Amino acid sequence: MAFRKKGTTKNPSSFRKKFFVIFISSLLVLFIMPLLKLNGSSDNAKAIQNLKVSPVSKIKLTTTKKPLITTYNGKTQKVMYLTFDDGVSKYEKDIVNILEKNNVKATFFLIGTTLKEYPHNPQSLLQKGEYVGMHSMSHNYKKLYIEGHFTEEMLTEQKLLKGLTGKEIHLVRPPYGSKPGLTLDERNQLANSGLKMWDWTIDSYDWNLPHNPKQIINNVLRHANRNVEVVLLHEKKQTVEALPSIIKGLKAKGYTFKAYDEDQHFPLNFWHDGRL
Ligand SMILES: [Zn+2]
Repeated sequence: MAFRKKGTTKNPSSFRKKFFVIFISSLLVLFIMPLLKLNGSSDNAKAIQNLKVSPVSKIKLTTTKKPLITTYNGKTQKVMYLTFDDGVSKYEKDIVNILEKNNVKATFFLIGTTLKEYPHNPQSLLQKGEYVGMHSMSHNYKKLYIEGHFTEEMLTEQKLLKGLTGKEIHLVRPPYGSKPGLTLDERNQLANSGLKMWDWTIDSYDWNLPHNPKQIINNVLRHANRNVEVVLLHEKKQTVEALPSIIKGLKAKGYTFKAYDEDQHFPLNFWHDGRL
């Protein structure tokens, strides 16, 4: 009896020891191995380092200080970003007047070569609370996407804008949209240069509807349904004609209008590239 008793008490204790050894080994496998693996992957480490040294991280583009979407009286406040491409043009004054009249802020993606003729324009837009972004120097598909000068042209325009405004601007709008033209190599260059890139969620097709502001209004209002929308517009005569009704319709749908804010950046590109 005594022997058996001893045996039964001995067996669980050795089981406990075995269990302890297995438990510690599992911990090693679960926690230590992935660490070794991560250190071993120099590509990962490099990518992380690159992200850390980019000037964009200083202004915290990806961690929003203020929440983007807020609720008011139990209702979600929807956010609308109106964006105007291809300025500076003779229509911009009218566009800005309409925005101011309606107490609406927006974002302007300017072509670098137009700034020679309108050197005071970017600073004046910034002072009004609008955002100014880069839209390349040439706006030429072949130069940007086939010959691969996309990032280079954006950086040239960034410098130009810094000279005119004193501000380092980080957001670009790819002419014709980033897909399919923008290669992975160009996106890597953009990310390494600390630039961000926005395509859009709603295409108004305004550039293609010169005598049809009604259709432009319809294109925007019909597709504005999500909590955050980014609308592609251009500095065109027909856009000026459509703009008051677009704003009125969007306000009726419960949208509040914002100019792009680098502190509240979120990735929005057709490649789903989270770095940009
Ligand atoms: Zn354009």
